[in-house]
Amino acid sequence: MKIQLLISIILIPFLSFCQEQIEWQNDLELEQLEANTKKKIWLKIIDDGMSHPVTVPVIIVRGKEPGPTLGLIAAIHGNELNGIKVIQEVVADIDENNFQGTLIAIPGINGISIPQHRRRYIDEEDLNRNFPGKEKGNRSQQYVFQINNKILTKLDYLIDMHTASFGRENSLYVRAAMNNDTINQMAKLQDADIILNSNGLPSTNEQISATRTMRAEAMLKGIPCITVEYGNPQVYQPEIIQRGKTGVENVLSWLNMIDQETVAVDLPIMCKKSYWIYVEEGGYLEIMVELKQQLKKGELIAIMRNPFGDILNKYYCPEDGIVIGKSSNPINMNGGRIIHLGIPID
Ligand SMILES: [Zn+2]
Repeated sequence: MKIQLLISIILIPFLSFCQEQIEWQNDLELEQLEANTKKKIWLKIIDDGMSHPVTVPVIIVRGKEPGPTLGLIAAIHGNELNGIKVIQEVVADIDENNFQGTLIAIPGINGISIPQHRRRYIDEEDLNRNFPGKEKGNRSQQYVFQINNKILTKLDYLIDMHTASFGRENSLYVRAAMNNDTINQMAKLQDADIILNSNGLPSTNEQISATRTMRAEAMLKGIPCITVEYGNPQVYQPEIIQRGKTGVENVLSWLNMIDQETVAVDLPIMCKKSYWIYVEEGGYLEIMVELKQQLKKGELIAIMRNPFGDILNKYYCPEDGIVIGKSSNPINMNGGRIIHLGIPID
């Protein structure tokens, strides 16, 4: 008896960290979930070359009806991880017994690229430029088709979670079509440094028939969507994650899905447009400005040197703006990026 007690005292802490059995499903099957449940599933998207299913983690919180369905989708680019942690922390704090509507949270939608530390899909395609996908298309097209079909079609609202790409850093900023009242509100509830007005929606017939981002696809379906850029690639940044959590909880609260007041956030800098400034020769680049720094026209932003340290060029800010993102890699060839400059609304 004493030995059994001893064994259980030793084992219980270990067992509590063991993975529970999480079932695999072909579809989300929301209708079959009872009210007040929080359920984890592995959702099957495609098969790999061993005939094994490639799955993505989905956490569904099914509250009381009526209520909207909010989607949180992180890491369609496989190296963009802060959003994953934002989702985990938001979901951990949700009380499913006091929840209205449905949350579909996907902490890692690129099931192929995330474990490989890759931004792009296995065929070097950008999944986020391949919506709506094709049922019988190539590898990335089929993956995107399944995401579109199995997930996007279920949503009323979407927060699409990104970070900067390799070799770059981002502030915490939102891309949103600010002329849409609902989207405008979703954006302003984020604890962001900057909101960049970006329509995202294809306007001409030619653009509608072309491939597009997940945000554009959602908006074409009439699903209000914002893209949030949470800092840097392939890292967890606690401060950014905390602010990301505040933003998502504010949206849950604004949609009356959780019983909690929205938290007031600092007013972000509103930008009407943005563009990258690129280097015009190759060499070693030193960037003189910081993320979120507000710049005046003519201010020095970067110095390019050759490997011997001789100055090849100096770059100056072409107009008043703010640094949304910047390169973190000094080594650049022609066309390398310097800064992503946001132009504030007058
Ligand atoms: Zn991204």
